[in-house]
Amino acid sequence: MGNWQTLPFGAVLLEQMATSSYRDGQWSEPRLVPSDRMDISPAAHVLHYSSTCFEGLKAYRWRDGSIHAFRMDMHVARMCRSAALLCLPEPPAELVARVIRMAVDAGRAGVPDLPAALYIRPTLIGTNGSIGSAGKGAEEALLYVLVSPVGPYFKTGAKGLTVLLEQAAWRTTPGFGMAKTGANYASSLRRIMQAKREQDADQIVFAPGGIVQETGAANVFLLAPERVLTPAKTEDFLHGVTRDSLLRLAARQGYRTEERQISADELLRWCATSEIALSGTAAVLAGVGTVIADGVTHQLGDGGIGPVTARLRQALVDIQSGTAADELGWLTEM
Ligand SMILES: *Cc1c(COP(=O)(O)O)cnc(C)c1O
Repeated sequence: MGNWQTLPFGAVLLEQMATSSYRDGQWSEPRLVPSDRMDISPAAHVLHYSSTCFEGLKAYRWRDGSIHAFRMDMHVARMCRSAALLCLPEPPAELVARVIRMAVDAGRAGVPDLPAALYIRPTLIGTNGSIGSAGKGAEEALLYVLVSPVGPYFKTGAKGLTVLLEQAAWRTTPGFGMAKTGANYASSLRRIMQAKREQDADQIVFAPGGIVQETGAANVFLLAPERVLTPAKTEDFLHGVTRDSLLRLAARQGYRTEERQISADELLRWCATSEIALSGTAAVLAGVGTVIADGVTHQLGDGGIGPVTARLRQALVDIQSGTAADELGWLTEM
C-alpha cells in the first residue's frame, strides 16, 4: 500500500460508504453508496441546528491478513448515547454495528498493513428539510459510515507535544462535553487556533475553574513509575474508549490507577517530576513535552516521550496489532 506515514490523517476515503436512513419511525436496510458525495436538502436540520454526532474507531490488518476492529461495542454504545443527547433518532446498536461491518467489508482490499490502520467514521445527521425546526429534534436522519486508511496522527515523532493549559475558557458548555459532536469542536476551535498561532501549541488542556477536563480531542493522563491518573468522568468531557482501555491495562500491569478530580495546579506540579500524555483513538497515547501556563513554559523531562507513556502505549498497540493476546476480548474480527 501507499506511504501512510506521510499521509494527512483522514484525507483518503475508500470509494464506498455504508448507510441506513431513518424516516417515519423506521431505519432502512443498510446499503452501500459512493462516498464522494451525498444529496441532502440545504434546509437539512443538521446544517442549521447541528444535529450531528460521530464516532472514530480503528480496524487493523494483522500479519495473517485478518482484520480486527478495536472495542467496537463501546464505540457503538457511545454513538447511541451521543444521539440521545442531541435529540437525534437513536439507532439500535445492532444496526450501527451492521452498517460498520458493511463498510469495512466493502473496503477490505483497502485496509493497509500495520502499523497503518483503517479509521472508521460512523456519522449520524438530522436530514429533514425544515428551517423552522429550531425547537425540535431531527425527525429524519442518515447514518453513514466512512472508512479511511490512516498512518500516525501526530507527526512529531519522538518529540513531545506542546500544550497550553487554559484555566478560564470552556471547551464546550457544561453537560454537553460527553457528546461526541462537531459542535464541541466548533466551540473550541477559535481558542485552539489562537494557541497554535500565538504560543505554537499543538493543543489546549481545558481546565475551566482550575479543574482539568481534556484537550480539544483527547483525554489527559498523568503518569509516574507506579501511578496512572486521569480525571474522573463528568458530563463535561468525552469519555474516551482509549482512556478506559489504558486505565484497565495499567491496572493489570500493576500501576495504581486513580480516576479523580485533578486541578491545574496539580498538573503543573506533575511537570517537575513525571509524565503527561494525551489519549485517543487517532493518537493512541501521545506524550506531552511542554506545558505552557500563564505565559510560563514548563518542560517535562527532556521534552520527549516518557518511559511510562511509551510502555503503556506499546502494551495497547501490541493488543491492537495481534502481537499480544486479547485477554479482555476487545477485538472483533471483521
Ligand atoms: C473522540 C474524542 C476523544 C477520544 O476518545 P477515544 O474513544 O479514546 O477515541 C477525546 N476527546 C474528544 C473531545 C473526542 O471527540
